[in-house]
Amino acid sequence: MKGICVLGATGSIGVSTLDVVARHSHLYKAVALTANHNIDLLFEQCMLHHPEYVVVVDENKAKSFEQKIQNTPISDIKVLTGSESLEYVSTLDSVDSVMAAIVGAAGLLPSLAAAKAGKTILLANKEALVMSGDIFMDAVAKSGAQLLPIDSEHNAIFQCMPAGYKSGMQAKEARRILLTASGGPFRQMPVDQLVNVTPAQAVAHPNWDMGKKISVDSATMMNKGLEMIEACILFAMKPDQIQVVIHPQSIIHSMVDYVDGTVLAQMGNPDMRVPIAYSMAWPERFESGVAPLNIFDVRQMDFEEPNLERFPCLRLAYKAINLGGIIPTVLNAANEIAVDAFLNEQIRFTDIPLVIERSMDKFVASPASSLELILEADKNARLVAKQLIIELAA
Ligand code: NAD
Ligand code: MG
Repeated sequence: MKGICVLGATGSIGVSTLDVVARHSHLYKAVALTANHNIDLLFEQCMLHHPEYVVVVDENKAKSFEQKIQNTPISDIKVLTGSESLEYVSTLDSVDSVMAAIVGAAGLLPSLAAAKAGKTILLANKEALVMSGDIFMDAVAKSGAQLLPIDSEHNAIFQCMPAGYKSGMQAKEARRILLTASGGPFRQMPVDQLVNVTPAQAVAHPNWDMGKKISVDSATMMNKGLEMIEACILFAMKPDQIQVVIHPQSIIHSMVDYVDGTVLAQMGNPDMRVPIAYSMAWPERFESGVAPLNIFDVRQMDFEEPNLERFPCLRLAYKAINLGGIIPTVLNAANEIAVDAFLNEQIRFTDIPLVIERSMDKFVASPASSLELILEADKNARLVAKQLIIELAA
C-alpha cells in the first residue's frame, strides 16, 4: 500500500488523481489532501478518502473546515493551515508519492520539499520546474527521488524514451522531441481579432477541461512555451531540439525522433487520467477509467507549424530559455500576473505577451544558482509586471 499526498486536490488534476486513487484503493491511500479555499469539494473528497491530514491554505477557510467536520465520521482528520504546512505534508513518512498539482509558483516549495525528501514526485506543476530547473533536478538526483511527469506531453515523451530511462538523463540516441499542441481555441481566429478575446472565450478549451490559468496559457500558447522549457529540463535537451507541432485533434500527445529515423509517438484519448494512472502504476500499468481510443473515430490527424506572430508567447519562452539564468523565472512570474489581470479584465488578451516581454527586458540573466535568488527574481518580476499593467490600464 502506497501513501499519496495530493497537493492541489481540489483542482482539475487533483480531482482526476483522486478518481484514479479510488479505482485502486487496495494499492493507494490518500494520506494528505491540500486546497487553497474550496472546502466544500475538499469535504466531499475527505468523506470518500478519509485522509490523515488536510491543509487548507486560507486560514479562515481552515477554521470553517474544522467546524464542518465536527460530529462527522471524519472529525479525526488533522486540519493544518498556511503554506508551510504544504511542505510538512509533502514530506511525511507515511507519504510515498506526492502529486504536485498546485497551479503556479505557489507549488514550488512543497514540490521541492518532496524532491529533497526523496519522494516519488508526480509533477503536474510545470511552473515550479520552469522556475527552479537545475536546483530542482539536483535535489531529485541527490535524494534519489523519482520524478515522473504528469503533463500529458512530457508523460508521452517519457513513455517513448528507452527502457530504464529516468527523468534528467540524456537519451543520446534521441535527437529531437516533437512537442504537440492543440493550438487552443484561437488557432484559426484572424490575428487582428485576438485583441477582443474575452476571458470566457479564452478558458473554453476545445479538447481539455482544465483550470483557468492553464486554459488561458493554452490560448496564448504560453503553456507550450512553459512545456518546451519543462522538456529541456526533464529530458536534458537543448531548445533547438524541441519542435512544437500543432496537432488539433490531441490524439498524439508527443513524439521522440531517434537517430535511426524512428519516431515514437504516444497516443490516447485526451484525458489526464491516462498520464496520472501511468505515473501511479509506473513501472507497471493499471486501469485509468479512460475509454479505449477508437481509432476509427479519429479519421484524420493534422500537423502544422506554429505561427509565432499569432502566438508571441511561444517566441518569448524560447527567448527566455536561451537567455537562461533567472529569465525563465521572470517569464513565468510575469505570465502569472498578466493572466490574472486578463482574467480580471484589467488588460486585453494581446497585452499578455506585451507585459511579459517588457518585464523580461527589465532583467539581466543573472544566475539562478540558489532558491533565494529564484524567489527574489520571482518577487521582483511580479512587482515589475504589476507596474506595467497599471501603466497599460492608464
Ligand atoms: P486548478 O486551477 O484546477 O487547480 C489548482 C489547485 O491548486 C487547486 O486545488 C487550488 O486549491 C490549488 N492552489 C491554487 N493556488 C494555491 C496557492 N496559492 N496555495 C496552495 N494551493 C493553491 O489547476 P489545474 O488545471 O489542476 O492545474 C494544476 C497544475 O497542473 C498546473 O501547474 C498546470 O499547469 C498543470 N497541468 C494541468 C493540466 C490539466 O489538464 N488541468 C494538464 C497538465 C498540467
Ligand atoms: Mg500539457
